[in-house]
Amino acid sequence: HAREEDLKKLLERYTKTFTITPQRLKMITDNFVGVLEKGLEEPEQTVPMLPAYVFGWPTGEEVGSYLALDLGGTNLRVCHVVLKGKGKFEVTQSKFRLTEEQKQQEGQLLFDFCAECLNTFIIDHFGDANGDVILEEEIALGFTFSYPMQQDAIDHGKLIRWTKGFGNPNTEGRDCAAMFRQSLEKFKVPIKMTSLINDTTGTLIASNYVRQDTRIACIFGTGCNAAYMEHIGNIPKIKSLGLPDDEDMAINCEYGAFDSFTHEHMAEVRTKYDEYIDLHSNKPHEQTYEKMIAGLYLGEIFRLVMCEMVDEGSLFLGQNTYKIEKPYSFDTAFLSLIESDPTEELLTVTGLFTHFFGLDTTIVERKFFRELAKLIGTRAARLSSCGIAALVIKMGYLEEGCGVGADGSLYSKYPGFADRLHQALVDIFGEKGKKIVTYQAEDGSGVGSAIIAAMTKARK
Ligand code: ADP
Repeated sequence: HAREEDLKKLLERYTKTFTITPQRLKMITDNFVGVLEKGLEEPEQTVPMLPAYVFGWPTGEEVGSYLALDLGGTNLRVCHVVLKGKGKFEVTQSKFRLTEEQKQQEGQLLFDFCAECLNTFIIDHFGDANGDVILEEEIALGFTFSYPMQQDAIDHGKLIRWTKGFGNPNTEGRDCAAMFRQSLEKFKVPIKMTSLINDTTGTLIASNYVRQDTRIACIFGTGCNAAYMEHIGNIPKIKSLGLPDDEDMAINCEYGAFDSFTHEHMAEVRTKYDEYIDLHSNKPHEQTYEKMIAGLYLGEIFRLVMCEMVDEGSLFLGQNTYKIEKPYSFDTAFLSLIESDPTEELLTVTGLFTHFFGLDTTIVERKFFRELAKLIGTRAARLSSCGIAALVIKMGYLEEGCGVGADGSLYSKYPGFADRLHQALVDIFGEKGKKIVTYQAEDGSGVGSAIIAAMTKARK
């Protein structure tokens, strides 16, 4: 087994590798502000700052009955949302699992499946004994389609490229709203799709509906992203549309792409493990920021460090390590478990390594793993603060302070993630950083989508 002195030395080495100083956080943040501004100035930038055609904040008094459809990575979710005003709502929902085949079949068939599931939901919830659906008035539907879209109106959106493992042919470059409407007609679904949104934008609006000091929404799940509300006058790239300069519009930043291709802004803190993950991913050089922060990658960073130690002969000597050598075999949820093990002997960690990897560990090794998880989890939380801080600087929110609605498993389940993020904001801004407060966001793709459908109706 590994010797205590060796692990101590290694821990010193990894502490240097994964620690980000306040000074460095400030530099990354300053560069981030410039990148956000560039995305607003010109189309097709690395961080694309996509206009979402959601105009201004909800009043909190939006009311009525709406449907929401969410095509996520794993499930298709249909929700009936009743907005009651004063930030209150009720949701009824059904989930339909997507098969791998459905993610690769002809694009129109995917939208047909969406329309069919919606039809089933409507018959179940609004049909009479014969299955006939008679609605007093047409219910508006908000469609959450969280793939990068080029929009020029709230009810249209051209798919730029598939992400999250989807590959349906004849969809990229096409208007997905039109494709979905075609499927609605085919199945005679008595519904009008009025808005097409990204889940981050939905999260922004839903969070502001219940907490009016919300100015930013962030997602820390499989990937990372943020949305906020911008003054239209500050979006030069859409000047030709002639929209009123003094109105506001939501922007889906897609900022997981920060520092892609050039890797210049985080060069000092990017490690060989980050580089390895990037080069062995299906999209090398893209989503650089996301790859250092998001749930999909943190477990893999941890695993690569372990493999390095195995190669150097300082860990698991004489044991069969083939299971731990399999790429992406170490889930980020394991880091959460390791950090939160309540037992003195770290027995949860013992169980994790024997059960999933067939490996014996000593208490000294388990304590080392706990420190390593802490280093990787803390780096992710601290880097996460840079994107938020950049938006705060850009919009001048520091003096008054603001709320940040945050969602995703990393935010909601990783112990200490929020505290570490808040500490980093204080490192960047000093005491004033305490006025930027993150909290668990509301359901963006259900409630947020319904509120946006209500706002869209009110505008017409
Ligand atoms: P999505 O982003 O796909 O909507 P989630 O917000 O649930 O979904 O994020 C999924 C990611 O979160 C996965 O990469 C997974 O490894 C990670 N994850 C799941 N559970 C935990 C946990 N307890 N602690 C930290 N990360 C987790």
